[in-house]
Amino acid sequence: MLTALKKILEIQELDTKMIRLMRLKRDRQKELNDIDDIKSDLRKQIVIKETEVLNLKRDLRIMEGEVSDIKEDIKKYEEQQNEVRKIEDFNALTQQISAKDRDRHNREQKMIDVQEKLAAEEEVLGTLRETLESTSESSKVIEGEIKQSISLINEEGQQILNERQMLVKDADPEVFSIYERLLKNKKDRVVVPLEDRTCSGCHIMVTAQHENLVRKGEKLHYCEHCSRIHYWQESADLEGTGVATKRRRRKSTATQV
Ligand SMILES: [Zn+2]
Repeated sequence: MLTALKKILEIQELDTKMIRLMRLKRDRQKELNDIDDIKSDLRKQIVIKETEVLNLKRDLRIMEGEVSDIKEDIKKYEEQQNEVRKIEDFNALTQQISAKDRDRHNREQKMIDVQEKLAAEEEVLGTLRETLESTSESSKVIEGEIKQSISLINEEGQQILNERQMLVKDADPEVFSIYERLLKNKKDRVVVPLEDRTCSGCHIMVTAQHENLVRKGEKLHYCEHCSRIHYWQESADLEGTGVATKRRRRKSTATQV
């Protein structure tokens, strides 16, 4: 294997870990956001309900004012009735009184409807507040766990970055910059071994000639299908790098059995 690739493979191991770690962090962050969304949705519903309750109370006060005005009017008409002398005037006032009374009755009926609606809305508001409180309470533990896990992820990420920096110092700058460009595009392993004359990145077969060139390892060889860098995997090459593919692990398990 091209010697420059060994260092790159070590860097790639760290980058693969980092990619997995960042995916995990995104997932955990999303769980946190989902909890926040549920709570903020409840808060919005509460604000809407509170406004409805306030509006109903205001309507009710207005209606009460109107009814009491009508009652005043009726009182005035009744007093006038005591003073009039002509029967026609008396009857006219009686008619006005009964008209006012009907109006009062109708308004009082409407008030009962509004009062019922207000009671129902206040009940919904109460339930929403309780739900928000219990949700906040029960999610506290989960949120704490998620936040802790995110901070562990950050720590691990920082360690990986530090390790990577050390490795990059010793890496061949040219090969490293090619590697970084490929990694940026693929967000996946970009230096891969040939397995059974197949690219283990895209799983497409390569030519025997290409395989031979990779085996010689004199320069970089790219997969013509997926542009990944190929290397020839020999056990000795990988000693001490901590790099092992599935195939190699499978082989060693088979030997143990
Ligand atoms: Zn490929």
